[in-house]
Amino acid sequence: MNHFRDIPIKQKLTVTILVTVAVSLLLSGAGVVAADSFLFRSYLNRDLSALANILADNSNASIAFDDPQSANEVLASLRSRTHVVSACVRGANEVTLASYARPGAPTGCPSPGPEAGIRSTPEGLVVSQPIMLQSRSIGTVVLLYDLDEVGQRVRVFGTTVLIVLLISSVFAFWVSAGLRALVAAPILELAQAVTAVSKTKNYGIRARRLSGDETGVLTDAINEMLAGIQTRDTDLRKALVGRENALASAENAREFLATTLASIGDAVISTDTEGRVVFANPVAQALLGWPEAEIVGKHLDEVFRIVNELTREKVESPVAKVLREGTIVGMANHTLLMARSGAEIPIDDSGAPIRDSTGATRGTVLVFRDVTQSRRAEQTTRLLASIVESSDDAIVGHDLDCIFTTWNKGAEKTFGYSSDEAIGRSTLLIADSESGDEMPGVLERIKRGERIDQYQAVRRTKNGQPIHVSVTVSPLLDELGRVVGASKIARDITEQVMASERLAQLNAALRRSNEDLERFAFVASHDLQEPLRMISVYSQLLIRACAGKVDGDTGMFVDYITGGTRRMRELLADLLAYAEIGANREDPVSTIDLNVVLEKVKENLRASIDDSGARVSSVPLPFLKADEVHFIPLFQNLIENAIKYRGADAPQIQIRVEESAHHVQFSVADNGIGIEPEYQEKIFAPFKRLHGPNIPGTGIGLAICLRVIERYGGRIWVESEAGRGATFHFTLPGKILPGKDKS
Ligand code: ADP
Repeated sequence: MNHFRDIPIKQKLTVTILVTVAVSLLLSGAGVVAADSFLFRSYLNRDLSALANILADNSNASIAFDDPQSANEVLASLRSRTHVVSACVRGANEVTLASYARPGAPTGCPSPGPEAGIRSTPEGLVVSQPIMLQSRSIGTVVLLYDLDEVGQRVRVFGTTVLIVLLISSVFAFWVSAGLRALVAAPILELAQAVTAVSKTKNYGIRARRLSGDETGVLTDAINEMLAGIQTRDTDLRKALVGRENALASAENAREFLATTLASIGDAVISTDTEGRVVFANPVAQALLGWPEAEIVGKHLDEVFRIVNELTREKVESPVAKVLREGTIVGMANHTLLMARSGAEIPIDDSGAPIRDSTGATRGTVLVFRDVTQSRRAEQTTRLLASIVESSDDAIVGHDLDCIFTTWNKGAEKTFGYSSDEAIGRSTLLIADSESGDEMPGVLERIKRGERIDQYQAVRRTKNGQPIHVSVTVSPLLDELGRVVGASKIARDITEQVMASERLAQLNAALRRSNEDLERFAFVASHDLQEPLRMISVYSQLLIRACAGKVDGDTGMFVDYITGGTRRMRELLADLLAYAEIGANREDPVSTIDLNVVLEKVKENLRASIDDSGARVSSVPLPFLKADEVHFIPLFQNLIENAIKYRGADAPQIQIRVEESAHHVQFSVADNGIGIEPEYQEKIFAPFKRLHGPNIPGTGIGLAICLRVIERYGGRIWVESEAGRGATFHFTLPGKILPGKDKS
């Protein structure tokens, strides 16, 4: 049955029709057969009774006369009745008088039943009919009738019913095919439409209306339902898209707000109506020192502690005020935030209520910022303003049209005009017409954003006095970095200018007298050589002429004269060398290789180097634009001194060179007796010696060195400790000549 439920409608229809047709035909066939059998049996009973009666009537005489032949003749009439199997006539004593058997059938008398009448036996119907004579039974006729006829009828009827059934089935099948088209097609159409809808979810699909019956009504109803669903689906989709869009834009807005709050430079905290923190942006977390995980849920008073900077008293939280008053609240000046770390941060803030669409307060938002920087800037500005105001220098500002915009106390003092008199006036107010106006040129450079450092100019004061000023001009910029004017710092240097003019005059005089002196020293040392030489020569001649004629004392005196003149000659030679260094003031034109210079010096000092066992070592020396006549005495004096003032060990002399940003520094170090600190400057003076005549020398060597180095714009000094050697340093301005220093 279940299987039947699942088969398609058209098959169901076919099966139903065929089964119905078959069952009804079979039932009606069975009815016909049953009725026919019943009727035929009735008819047969009657027929056989009549036949038995006839046979009994015809046989009574045969029995009465005991005539078997006639009885046999009577029975022989049964030959025409093919279904009579056998028959017999029996007398009153049960003796068979005559019998009949159908050809092929066994002979014998069928056994009669106990009663007259027709009885069914397996062989067929046994009919026994008493043979009456004058209402007395004288015998019995018994006959056996087979039922083949009944079977034949049943077969005929059965076959007929089957043929009719077959034909009816074919017809019924044909009818069912038509019915299928009529009944099943609309249902199929409906089913396909519904299946397609459920598969594709396309509620735009409609079932075709193929009939006007209930299926048609159903189709209409389903189509209507689909239309309804489609409309709802479309509405739903639209609503869904709208909702999704709304959600997306809400999410965008949320993200935008979150990013805005996260990237905003101010600290932002929001609280609920109880004053508990709901949100704190990263700046707020950093300022307060509370991370998000800890701050959310805390009461604002716990994390946002503020005091008055001046009184140190606790300040009421702006949130409490906002919640109480329901309005935007600004914070008092001088508010200090006590951060969790203990740091005190000056802040500036405001609180505001958060209201929903109904206007009800949902919480508060607090915005604050660290004003340390701006405070500092304000302080700096104030400080700068007071510096400007209290400065003795004139500090003034003017716009690009050269109209004064600021004028400090220093300017009032320097130029004699009050700020009211100067501001709004042109810079020509203090210009000196005689010395020319440098302003146009300066203004051009200022417009290009340049700063002009300390140039000298002449200005005129209110009372008409010219004054010398040293001016520094800087461009004044607006917020966009554009030049809008200039600030000038002018220092009254009239006195310095006067003093330096005086100094210049004195210097010129000094230079002149120095030159005279040098010329004198040069001439004297040169011209004195000749008389000295004469004294020396004639002393020698005197000794030779008086040889053996003078006493010992006289000879000794003459020796003194000779020694004195030799020493004087040395002194004059050194003095001449010293004077010569200052003589030629022209800049050197040739380049010298100091390595060659050093070799020449070593050659000059060969004897004393060899005698003392001195070791002179040097790094590669640079090339210089200098005169050899200056650098040979320089190195020679330093090396000679290092050998002369040696200690117990053989002299070790090391020459080094270092280059710095502005000069080249040389050093000549020895391991000699060293120099006490108090003499380290004095030894550079001419004729200054720390030793007696046991160490030869004139005391002019280091003075020559100093002259040479000063001539080249350098500096010379010594570093030493008594007994631990001395290092003479000297610098020369400029750099090592490129490409030649390591040659
Ligand atoms: P001189 O060597 O002719 O005496 P200098 O002018 O060369 O004159 O030196 C002045 C003095 O400085 C010397 O007399 C000596 O006492 C001291 N002096 C110079 N160089 C050295 C040195 N390398 N070590 C110790 N003393 C020195």
